[in-house]
Amino acid sequence: AVTRASVSLDSGFARELGELAVPWQAEPVADPRLLVLNEPLAAELALDPGFLRSAEGVSLLVGGDLPDEARPVAQAYAGHQFGGYAPLLGDGRALLLGELTDRHGRPRDLHLKGSGRTPFARGGDGLAAVGPMLREYVISEAMHALGVPTTRSLAVVATGRTVRREIPLPGAVLARVARSHVRVGSFSYAHGSGDPDLLRRLADHAIARCHPDAADAPNRFVALYQAVVSAQADLVAQWMLVGFVHGVMNTDNMTISGETIDYGPCAFLDAFDPASVYSSIDVDGRYAYGNQPLVAQWNLARLAEAMLPILDDDRERALETARESLSAFGTRFGATWLRGMRAKLGLSAEVEDDEVTTLSEELLALMHRGGADYTSTFRMLGDVARGHPDRAADAFGDQLDAAEGWLARWRALRPDGAAMDRVNPVYIPRNHLVEAALAAAAAGDLAPFTELVGAVTSPYVERPGWERFAEGAPAAFGPYTTFC
Ligand code: AMP
Ligand code: MG
Ligand code: MG
Repeated sequence: AVTRASVSLDSGFARELGELAVPWQAEPVADPRLLVLNEPLAAELALDPGFLRSAEGVSLLVGGDLPDEARPVAQAYAGHQFGGYAPLLGDGRALLLGELTDRHGRPRDLHLKGSGRTPFARGGDGLAAVGPMLREYVISEAMHALGVPTTRSLAVVATGRTVRREIPLPGAVLARVARSHVRVGSFSYAHGSGDPDLLRRLADHAIARCHPDAADAPNRFVALYQAVVSAQADLVAQWMLVGFVHGVMNTDNMTISGETIDYGPCAFLDAFDPASVYSSIDVDGRYAYGNQPLVAQWNLARLAEAMLPILDDDRERALETARESLSAFGTRFGATWLRGMRAKLGLSAEVEDDEVTTLSEELLALMHRGGADYTSTFRMLGDVARGHPDRAADAFGDQLDAAEGWLARWRALRPDGAAMDRVNPVYIPRNHLVEAALAAAAAGDLAPFTELVGAVTSPYVERPGWERFAEGAPAAFGPYTTFC
């Protein structure tokens, strides 16, 4: 039989960056119960699903029965939270169990969230509730299926513990997988230590794990910074294209790898509105949908500050290099966004960039004015492109007259409807569906959650019987508010 001994967990991060890693153990769980296991991801990680479902496997998934060589750690990092600097945050309720090697031979972090208090817990209880962990599971897996770089979710295990929030909630541990959990805030923390050698080792670790091409550049640390700028520009462009609002883009929640991380108060847009904010604590709208590209650049400026001592020995030159490198964000973001919009509109490479830009901006303005559903509008336009002009009335509603000129110009460019359907999702984790699935799960019924995961991990092909997953929120759902 497969046992924990067959799971190989390296501890490269802990070995190379001891200053950022506090050895720690998960809080024991008396009666763990597996709620959901991601079998395709397990296979990608060369983990045996049968083993993960066994008592020993479930125990491993909450940090209990680990392979003998495992050295779990809580990671130290800093972070700018809503603009204010916190010099010491760290994993307060999370642990890096170690690094697995996936089927392609790449190291992947295996990380737990909700595994008990660590030395970084401050006032927190170190725990997580079933609802938010299932939420991270379904939304991260949907993002992956949409082609957006993200941490993945391997499993959610109920702990049987009670977590005290406004009301008592059932506890859970999420097992999550990432290329790396190193964050912008990790660099701020290393910078704050005043030890340039630590900063250099962190940067070399990040190069090896996340941006290996930078190793060959004349100045590898400048190349690393530029690679992070590019990766984040691409990432945020993809968020914008799928209508995703992260909700808490603090620098401790921004990876160096360019993977989306820490699904807390996030949401997908229903009606298109750049000012959309869902998080209960984001009262000023700092992390509103339309602000995300700006915030990403602000965060990358904080990364540059942290990396200055290793970018160049001369501080003025380091600043100049950082400024120049950061200025590439706008170009990169714009190009990725435009490529995505060209595909969403079914337009060929022959159509001029300027024309795609104008059409995209005008469409978004029409959608904003009409309160159109961001996701389904593109599917309806796909129908129009495939020869169903009547669908334009569904897409534009009371903006149909205003949209006539736009429609004529777009259709004259002969959009490819079949190609549109390959990039415009039918099924996203709609806020009202996520909430309903989590409420059912809390009441002991996991079926709606499992069905929702099935739909959003197969987002592009319409299936009979899945109509309810494609519809916008009913009016009775009201304005949506998310909590951390
Ligand atoms: P977040 O912005 O939710 O990713 O978390 C910000 C910081 O708060 C991180 O250092 C977390 O580890 C910590 N934190 C959040 N919730 C808890 C909790 N229940 N117990 C301990 N630490 C927590
Ligand atoms: Mg976080
Ligand atoms: Mg959180």
